[in-house]
Amino acid sequence: MSDQQQMHYVGYCRICGTGLLGLRECGSCGEVVVLCDECDSVWTDGDFAAKPTFAGENDLPCPFCESSLLRSPSRWATKSKIDKLAWLQTSLKAGDVEVKRSATLGDEADEEKNSEPR
Ligand SMILES: [Zn+2]
Ligand SMILES: [Zn+2]
Repeated sequence: MSDQQQMHYVGYCRICGTGLLGLRECGSCGEVVVLCDECDSVWTDGDFAAKPTFAGENDLPCPFCESSLLRSPSRWATKSKIDKLAWLQTSLKAGDVEVKRSATLGDEADEEKNSEPR
């Protein structure tokens, strides 16, 4: 396992209360969405008061192009990508959010996904 990929997140999820709101980049269309790493809620911009999109049973379609946000080449957005996100920069300037960094625990996440009841 080589990809202990760093995740940039903008705070805690208001839906589940424990998840981190990671910035996820779609591998197909390149859009960046906000994804809770616990309950898989998705927001398409910094308006967290809006109702999130939820993941399906075993996949998470991109709200823009419907490709999987969970599978490669989708990934956590890089810093340079984040710096170009207009809505995020606006929220940052307004002081609404703060971007932080954490390492994702790939192994643990995979285990949880695999043990889902069918
Ligand atoms: Zn997409
Ligand atoms: Zn959540």
